[in-house]
Amino acid sequence: MIASPLAATAIALVVGLCVGSFLNVVIHRLPKMLERDWRAQCAEMRGDAAPAEDPPVYNLALPRSRCPGCGHAITALENVPVVSWIALRGRCSQCKQAISARYPTVEILGGALAALAIWRFGANWQGVAACVLLWTLVALTYIDFDTQYLPDNLTLPLLWGGLAANLFHLFVPLADAVIGAIAGYLILWAVYWAFLLIRKKEGMGHGDFKLLAALGAWMGWQILPIVIVLSCVAGAAIGIGLKVFRGRDHNVPIAFGPVLAIAGAVALFFGQVLAQAYLP
Ligand SMILES: [Zn+2]
Repeated sequence: MIASPLAATAIALVVGLCVGSFLNVVIHRLPKMLERDWRAQCAEMRGDAAPAEDPPVYNLALPRSRCPGCGHAITALENVPVVSWIALRGRCSQCKQAISARYPTVEILGGALAALAIWRFGANWQGVAACVLLWTLVALTYIDFDTQYLPDNLTLPLLWGGLAANLFHLFVPLADAVIGAIAGYLILWAVYWAFLLIRKKEGMGHGDFKLLAALGAWMGWQILPIVIVLSCVAGAAIGIGLKVFRGRDHNVPIAFGPVLAIAGAVALFFGQVLAQAYLP
């Protein structure tokens, strides 16, 4: 497999499609799991009994996925990444309610990014680590887009994961990774406080600091300027686009996490080239 980059890339594509299917579950369920957790904690602090939840058990494995329209349990055959969605023509097999195109999109993203990572970094630990980073960024992008929230359950392990990967010299020297993590956090922390003091409102969430810290931990402090410039340009373009084409109020917040995550993915593939272009 290592001898043939094409075979390794093809395997990465298939594995990535399946991981993408799992990412759909994470994107859909993790925010709901956190909300249930917070409700339980609030009840405990008030001294109340734990709130009754429906269904009582809800995690990434249980209960089984069902059609939101008719409750039909999704069979294994209906759960094949992308293929099932096309075979079902994007509709539930029972009630014919439309299944969001987001499901196959996330699966294709999971597969395509894994294939790109293995093609670029090779069938080795560096390639596998790059896949894990990219998959986590996909989950964070969609969760932040849906909920304007970047869960610590994803950002913090991503940060530690980056430091651990570079402990084994996978991407950058460990010192660059540690400085990247600290600087990534502090830069957005400083922007947050400056914005709060000047504009008297929160410009971004704490999850954004942790995400940039994680990107710094993976790719070193050298890529931070690139990620910030890319995400500011993308964020401004999206903001102006929404205002011009949708007449969106500029006080309505835009999630910054997705642009950070996309800029991070671009930096993973092109960061070295871009950093070499400006650092000397
Ligand atoms: Zn149905």
